[in-house]
Amino acid sequence: MKKIVILGSTGSIGTQTLEVIEEQKDDFTAFGIVGGSNIDLLTEQALKYQPEWVGIYDETKYQELKNRLPESINIVAGERGVFELVSHSGYQILVAAISGIAGLKSTIKGIEAGKVIALANKETLVAGGNLILDLVKKHNTYLLPVDSEHSAIFQCLNENRKLKKIILTASGGPFRDYSEAQLQKVTLEDALKHPNWSMGKKITIDSATLANKALEIIEAHYLFDCSYENIDVLIHKESIIHSMVEFVDTSILAQLGYPSMKLPIQFALSYPNSLITNWKSLDLSQIGTLNFSKPKSYFKALSLGIEAGKKGGSYPVVYNGANEKAVEFFLNRKIGFMEISQLIETALNQIPSFKINSFEDIEHIDKTTREFLVRGIR
Ligand code: NAD
Ligand code: MG
Repeated sequence: MKKIVILGSTGSIGTQTLEVIEEQKDDFTAFGIVGGSNIDLLTEQALKYQPEWVGIYDETKYQELKNRLPESINIVAGERGVFELVSHSGYQILVAAISGIAGLKSTIKGIEAGKVIALANKETLVAGGNLILDLVKKHNTYLLPVDSEHSAIFQCLNENRKLKKIILTASGGPFRDYSEAQLQKVTLEDALKHPNWSMGKKITIDSATLANKALEIIEAHYLFDCSYENIDVLIHKESIIHSMVEFVDTSILAQLGYPSMKLPIQFALSYPNSLITNWKSLDLSQIGTLNFSKPKSYFKALSLGIEAGKKGGSYPVVYNGANEKAVEFFLNRKIGFMEISQLIETALNQIPSFKINSFEDIEHIDKTTREFLVRGIR
């Protein structure tokens, strides 16, 4: 029985992880669940899945949570409380499914406690890069990708075959076929309507700007030790092929399935084994046609992110921080869709580059970037 702690249990990945745990109750159990502030859903989850521990980041909700849950469930609140739970010796796998850089510190705590990290939170690796990989090595543990593309690549890789190239597929989001002029006019409501996936708001906007793909390129660079030159992006609107790898002999392997995060989540939790499911098998004869194309150059968040990744150092941290803050502005209707990439570009051009030696440096650059954006739109 694998015991699991979920950070971000009230989010899209978190709730689907709990569903997988429920479907595979002979193999998995939820040892702990942690939410940000959604006390209603957290209570419902605690009562349904009966974890030993429940954590809530928002400390003001501690007493209310305590009143609602039976005494048999341990409750922690605030960052310190959550870190205590993450460091607990009673479980094995930490599902890192907080959205954004907010997930960095708790993931670090999990690595330091020697937990296997099922990593959904790509921002952690984008900003933390080699520092995260070094920490993982030092604590003798490993990262398992939950992001569907990275899970696909991980499933296709073969240690006996030399990798030539990674081909990351992208649905292209709701504006895939838009002209540059059409893009200027899109609304928040349009951007939140992803054609294939139901996800948290931040990643849904990232999918519309293609910033998500840039973050995934940087994530793949670190996870699979692959140079940026050898990572291609392919727009594939059906989201059936979740990514591909090409070996040096030009043979290409792909992982296919209906668009659902449950398979990558379950694959990470059950690794290195596979578990039987009652999910519907992919029927390609019903799908008929799969389409592929190159991303359009006016999705600037993509090229800016690739460039930031290639430059390294503080650039990916600035890219990530500027994107997060710009998406927040967009979600709050303070800026338009096209301004997201414009703000990212300005931040990358104007914030001085900085060598990163520690996680404190990352936090500092992230904070500087956010402050820069706030000043910029005043
Ligand atoms: P979401 O917004 O649905 O959920 C986020 C979770 O994190 C919630 O439980 C929320 O309470 C918690 N949270 C948010 N901010 C927090 C903070 N400051 N402190 C503490 N907790 C906080 O997000 P999601 O779509 O589930 O995505 C989670 C992560 O997984 C992201 O990094 C995303 O890029 C990645 N991911 C998601 C999907 C998907 O299908 N949803 C696919 C691939 C990767
Ligand atoms: Mg993805």
